[in-house]
Amino acid sequence: MRREAAPLRAEAPRRPALDRGRSLLGPALQLVHTGQAPTRSALTGALDVTRATAGAVTAELEALGLITVDSRPAGSGRGRPSHRLAVAEDGPVVIAAQIHADGISASLAGLGGQLIAPVHLPLPAATDPVRLLRAVAETGAALARDARRRCLGIGLALPNPVTEPDGTALAALHFGWPSGTPVADLFAAEVRRADHGPRARTELPSAVANDANLAALAEHRHGAGRDSRHLLLVTSGHRGVGGALVIDGRLHTGSAGLALEVGHVTVDPQGRLCPCGNRGCLNSETDPDALFAAAGRTPDPALPLFGQARELAAADTPQARAAVEHVVDRLGLGLAGLVNILNPDRIVLSGLHLDLLAAAPERLAAVVADRCLWGRSGRVPIVPAQVRHAGLVGAAELAWQPYLADPQAVTAA
Ligand SMILES: [Zn+2]
Repeated sequence: MRREAAPLRAEAPRRPALDRGRSLLGPALQLVHTGQAPTRSALTGALDVTRATAGAVTAELEALGLITVDSRPAGSGRGRPSHRLAVAEDGPVVIAAQIHADGISASLAGLGGQLIAPVHLPLPAATDPVRLLRAVAETGAALARDARRRCLGIGLALPNPVTEPDGTALAALHFGWPSGTPVADLFAAEVRRADHGPRARTELPSAVANDANLAALAEHRHGAGRDSRHLLLVTSGHRGVGGALVIDGRLHTGSAGLALEVGHVTVDPQGRLCPCGNRGCLNSETDPDALFAAAGRTPDPALPLFGQARELAAADTPQARAAVEHVVDRLGLGLAGLVNILNPDRIVLSGLHLDLLAAAPERLAAVVADRCLWGRSGRVPIVPAQVRHAGLVGAAELAWQPYLADPQAVTAA
């Protein structure tokens, strides 16, 4: 803290004021970023510090160009009015990108989980790792060149498991990439090659992660998972099924980044063949292809599969309703197994699973409750996802992560 060191020193006599204040910057920024501290008094309470310390921290974040502090009184309520806090509208941005079975999506993103005019492109003809990652890097770079705001990093959501900490892609079944493809390194190289314009940070940091993990992070920070302590997210996007667990605000990624591969829980031993080689995985029983198969229909290959599956789930015909019930029963079996193992306090469903929940909420809850040890006494809330383009919003979270951890890093380069 540069300007208001005195109150910090008074409050934390055993630690240097600079360290004490600096260590609060990240948590404070995170609270404003996630909408949990809309006022300085809310921030003061959430951080459990004095008003003077909260004032010093918000002044520092404002000086870094990350938040705005509005001292005009808010409303006419009783008590002392508190300064309003918001993410800076003209503050820096990051690039969020996502590769999925139907295409590439990319957007700039400010703090606060807001995407700025996301773009969606079809997959390029060549989907080998280098060419696909180059297409993503160049799409993101074009957005950064057109932006008037400073660009600080890029995050990419991938539809396959990504190992930690080395960032290799395993079982990249959509594109037939060799298992162990070093996606983090390849993507970093393509980001270095791309021209991000004069306002981007030089040596733009890049990061990659699994899309379901990132969607869960987005829901926890900005959507249906807020305030949940053990959040289980299960999703079926364009193909297959993914899952993620956020515990006390942090993704549970296991020892090597590969936890929560919920798609390969068996829900029907005689069921459909899964790309993993087994039969009846949640992955192959509850994704868009499975819904079409249950309805005895074939999707139009000229249209994106996901949108067609959503329409089918909402269709009011006996054939569609029977297909939804068939798939919901299998989804319920899978969720029940996960609930018995993980004991979440909330389940967020997204992608096609959100539409299945909307089409048959009681049936899904009943199947889960029936199979859960404690299902009849204390049902786990199963709620629809709220964040639009959650994979992209999560990719933005990934890119923001170094700055949420240490806001002063925005002054680097
Ligand atoms: Zn499988």
